[in-house]
Amino acid sequence: MKDNYMLEIDDLHVYYDNIHALKGISLKIKKGEVVSLIGANGAGKTTTLQTISGLLHPKKGSVKFEDTDITRYPTHVICEKGIAQVPEGRRIFARLPVKDNLKLGSFSINDTSENLEKDRAGFYKIFPRMGERKNQLAGTLSGGEQQMLAMGRALMSRPKLLILDEPSMGLSPLFVKEIFGVIKRLKEDGVTILLVEQNAKMALAIADYAYVLETGKITLEGKAKDLLNNPDIKKAYLGA
Ligand code: ATP
Repeated sequence: MKDNYMLEIDDLHVYYDNIHALKGISLKIKKGEVVSLIGANGAGKTTTLQTISGLLHPKKGSVKFEDTDITRYPTHVICEKGIAQVPEGRRIFARLPVKDNLKLGSFSINDTSENLEKDRAGFYKIFPRMGERKNQLAGTLSGGEQQMLAMGRALMSRPKLLILDEPSMGLSPLFVKEIFGVIKRLKEDGVTILLVEQNAKMALAIADYAYVLETGKITLEGKAKDLLNNPDIKKAYLGA
């Protein structure tokens, strides 16, 4: 039987002027899977994510989502199709309260106010701290809380695929644990996730499958469990 992939990326080549940032990336994600993409600084992780969400367009190669070729689609259409990305650095609306940041997340699905309230209540259940701070201006939240809010805002669009770019970046160990706890919970709820992380240990521990990106190329892929035990990965990414 043919495997059913939610996302299929084939032979992506992406340039910034004459810098060849992605040199033929292929990657697949099945529904309900958590897939991690790991790699050092400058490997091309963010470029890959931005190409999926339509912010960048490849010179060659394709991105297929649920059997539709979305390679040249504009970002808002990709978002409406069910792909939500939490960018590196979070980009929350600092001058708006938590609850309005969440409301903006539901914009693409044109929610009724009843559903909006239901989704917000669901979010506060996963992140009780956000419920306590729903009227607080987002810019006054701590870094970890802003990351939670950014994830919540993406979830408000009820995405089929959630893309997380370095969710643990710059967070204290306690918040890193909390964020990964939430990712685990989303996984248990059946959310399909593409996770980009420099914290390779945690990213591999939570994922079903993983890809290693080095200077624009996938150099290794496999079950995340196997990569965790791979001596080369241990040496290069797990500090062994
Ligand atoms: P990091 O973990 O540091 O965010 P990354 O794996 O996400 O790294 P990318 O940001 O995708 O890597 O960058 C891949 C390559 O493309 C790097 O060599 C980078 O210098 C280059 N690059 C990224 N953005 C631009 C840009 N706007 N203009 C020119 N080159 C860029």
